[in-house]
Amino acid sequence: MTPSSDSPPAAGSRPALRHDWTVAEIEAIYTAPLPDLVFRAQTVHRAHHRADEVQGCMLLSIKTGGCPEDCAYCPQSAHYTTNVTRTDLASLDEVTDAATRARDQGATRFCMGAAWRDVPRGEEFDRVLDMVRVVRGLGMEACCTLGMLEQDQADALAAAGLSAYNHNLDTSPDFYGNIITTRTYDDRLTTLTRVRQAGITVCSGGIIGMGEDRGVRYRMLRQLASLDPHPESVPINMLVRVEGTPLSDAGAEDPLEMVRTIATARILMPASFVRLSAGRLSLTDEAQALCFLAGANSVFLGDRLLTTPNPGATHDERLFDRLGMRLTVNAPAPAAAHVGG
Ligand code: SF4
Repeated sequence: MTPSSDSPPAAGSRPALRHDWTVAEIEAIYTAPLPDLVFRAQTVHRAHHRADEVQGCMLLSIKTGGCPEDCAYCPQSAHYTTNVTRTDLASLDEVTDAATRARDQGATRFCMGAAWRDVPRGEEFDRVLDMVRVVRGLGMEACCTLGMLEQDQADALAAAGLSAYNHNLDTSPDFYGNIITTRTYDDRLTTLTRVRQAGITVCSGGIIGMGEDRGVRYRMLRQLASLDPHPESVPINMLVRVEGTPLSDAGAEDPLEMVRTIATARILMPASFVRLSAGRLSLTDEAQALCFLAGANSVFLGDRLLTTPNPGATHDERLFDRLGMRLTVNAPAPAAAHVGG
């Protein structure tokens, strides 16, 4: 990266990261007048990141549908009738082709998502390990989201070179049972601990627009920011309402709530990559610009995210061009995502 006026200051001049934010502090940040909130978030952002760069990630579903979990937002759940077509685990050749295309389109991170509750053992897991090696061999960061992991599986993924593991907390502990009943919040936290233990960076975030109130968002953000270290990557998703899922008729969320959630995440977790993830198609270009001003510095590229639509490459190129922003050229050190599992 060429140093410029946009280069973040040396680490020594930055305030220490905090893991003890209170809900009252988070509420005060989240509900500040929007100009104050965005100004504060942008100030924090510039102390840690370049203001004109966005990390581009590409997400591929390597095993689609038929998931035994019942996440109320997810069309891949076997509990709901949706238009998702189940597929078996992709071949190594298919992933190699997709990863090569992603790299050629400017992605520096390649994320692979499989709709499993628990990561299987045997040939399928060995194939995933080979996929990780292929992506790393192409010079990109490799991220997986495969469901719950045992420690030996996390260790094997680390040994294969996995850069990041996505495992979203989705929402606050108290609201979790409204969205998912087939696993507990503690199950999530246990997998995150194992990922950390293996030395893989953590990608974990949440979803807004699922019928939660602002208090749920404060408590979700507090939970994420209480992780020590913070997740290197924090995807913030706007619910994509998919026909056949229990949340298909949830009310539309105000895009400015997305801006507030991103800005608050940026302030609480200054060094993390905050990813403007699912739901970008429901945001205007201007709302997306506000999200970048609020500190979002990572997006998914390509016209699909696992099973839901996403802006295509041409639209994103034009958007970044209009904003005078650009995709990060080299894979950065930290972490990734998946809209759930
Ligand atoms: S979000 Fe992940 S874990 Fe939940 S149903 Fe979908 S694929 Fe399964």
